Amino acid sequence: MLRVRFAPSPTGFLHIGGARTYIFNWLFVRQQGGTMVLRIDDTDLERNTAASRQSIFDGLGWLDLPWDELYSQSERAPLHRQAAQAILDKGLAYRDFTPAAVEPAVGHEESGERRTGAPWLSNPGQREIPPAESNRRAAAGEPFVVRFRVPRETLAEVRFDDGVYGPQARSTGDIEDFALARSDGSPTYHLGSCADDADLRISHIIRGQDHLTNTFKHLLIFDALGVPRPQLAHLPLLLAPDGAKLSKRRHGKVVSVTAYRDAGFLPHAFVNFLALLGWSPKDNREVLTRAEMIELFSLAGISRNNAMVSYKEEEPENWADPKALHLNSQHLRTMPVEDLLPYVEAELRASGLWNDAYSGERRAWFTSTVD
Ligand code: GLU
Repeated sequence: MLRVRFAPSPTGFLHIGGARTYIFNWLFVRQQGGTMVLRIDDTDLERNTAASRQSIFDGLGWLDLPWDELYSQSERAPLHRQAAQAILDKGLAYRDFTPAAVEPAVGHEESGERRTGAPWLSNPGQREIPPAESNRRAAAGEPFVVRFRVPRETLAEVRFDDGVYGPQARSTGDIEDFALARSDGSPTYHLGSCADDADLRISHIIRGQDHLTNTFKHLLIFDALGVPRPQLAHLPLLLAPDGAKLSKRRHGKVVSVTAYRDAGFLPHAFVNFLALLGWSPKDNREVLTRAEMIELFSLAGISRNNAMVSYKEEEPENWADPKALHLNSQHLRTMPVEDLLPYVEAELRASGLWNDAYSGERRAWFTSTVD
């Protein structure tokens, strides 16, 4: 059974890169037949906001590509704790009692380097603490971080075949003993994500290329949990015209899905635009309906090159990519007039020009006039 997920963190408005990840997952699962899971990765209590969570629902709701199942990671803490315990019990993780002051940053941005910048794989002496002593110190209330015991004795390669980037390999000698759980018991992104992907029986993980290096750690976690590895495919990044990764912080409005909604884009034209950022059908057609995108979509059609979103920040009329505007006008011209009427109605209402007769006795006139 094919199951995919989109797992946004509610820490800002819905990013167009996130929306594109959602669209690729959605097209893939609708074509192949399966289940689309939306999982809100809301374990970072300090950075989560209700407004951001709402913007995910508003943005995805506007795209009109419905998901089948919805979960919030924060409600699944017992499962994450069990997963950490199961890996500890197998001896594949250990407690690290190094005082917090010298603890490297854990979580999403974990780099594997100490603050000095020197390569760092594990804190001295912690891997070797005998289980009985580790249990005793934990029971006595000493704080600890749970770390994955990355195999060091015989260096092996973690390998996988990426659905977009092809064969990937990384030596376990290059993977630090990453944290699974923080000293307050909360899961890191790596553990929460994998425990949930395993529990939700996710068969394919399709996500941004910025997660590719995390994947080696995730495969180690899946193996430690004793669950089958999902298939993985990473998506090329979206770049701004300055060549930088398109980011909420640096590039503002152009990155926000709801900005396009508020500017009057048609959702299916916008989906068409986002789908073409990094993917193209075999015949290179550009104006595509949703049904055509479902039919033509394939992971093989995704490019390994990062995709550029072009816009001119300093020119208000060019704030959006010209291709988005072009596709929008093509869809406006070709969509059935019945589908167009609600948009025209919304515009007329907003301008105070709407007359209820247009949906009553003058409907035929209104329709032919709009046409
Ligand atoms: N919450 C993570 C993010 O927003 C999910 C990444 C993933 O798909 O695993 O980056």
